Amino acid sequence: MARNTGPKCRLCRRERTKLFLRGARCDSPKCAAERRENPPGSQTFRHGKMTDYAVHLREKQKVKRYYGVLETQFRKYFRRAERAKGNTGEELMSLLERRLDNVVHRLGFGQSRAQARQIVAHGHITVNGQRVDIPSYLVRSGDVICVKARPKSLEQVKNNLAENHRQVPDFLTLIDGEKPEGHVVRLPEPDDVSIPVQAQLIVELCSK
Ligand code: SF4
Repeated sequence: MARNTGPKCRLCRRERTKLFLRGARCDSPKCAAERRENPPGSQTFRHGKMTDYAVHLREKQKVKRYYGVLETQFRKYFRRAERAKGNTGEELMSLLERRLDNVVHRLGFGQSRAQARQIVAHGHITVNGQRVDIPSYLVRSGDVICVKARPKSLEQVKNNLAENHRQVPDFLTLIDGEKPEGHVVRLPEPDDVSIPVQAQLIVELCSK
C-alpha cells in the first residue's frame, strides 16, 4: 500500500491550488497555499507560460495528489475508465471518488483523506456489515458504510464528525447518530468532485 509520505503543503503549493490534505489546518489562516504563492523550489523555478505538456501533466498530478494515489494505481484506474462505456474522464473521476478512503473522508469520519485511509486500514469501518480494511475498495450504489461498534472506533469518528464543517456530497447520505453510518445513494458524478478538475486534459495525456 504505497503512498506519498512527503510534506503535504508542498504538494498544494506545487499544484498552486488547495488540495485539502491536512484536515482542519486547511481551513485555517495557517494554510501554506494561501500564505505562499510561489511553488516550492521557486528560486530555480522558471516563470512564464507553461508548455502544453506541463498543463496536462499538472492536471494529472493534481488529481493523483488529491486522492493520494501513485502513478501505477492511477494508470490502473485510467485503463478501467477507458474500458467503461461512458466518457473516460468522467468514469475516471467517478472511480476515484468511489474509493473507500475518499468516501470515509467525505462523510466526515476522517478529517483528511490520509486520516480516513488510516481509519480504514486499521479496521474501524464496515461495508454492508463486513469489515473492510482496504482503502482502495470501490463502493457501489446502495452500500452502507458503518463504524465498528468498538468504543475506540466510535470515539475517533465522533470527534472527527464534531469538527467537520464540510458538506456531505449529494451521492452520500450521513446518519449522524449513536452509531454513525453513511449510505451511497448513487454513483458519483462530475459535480460531486470538490476541486475543479479538467479530466479531459488527463485523458489526452494518458491516451498518448
Ligand atoms: Fe494544502 Fe491544507 Fe496545507 Fe493548505 S493547509 S497547503 S490546503 S494541505
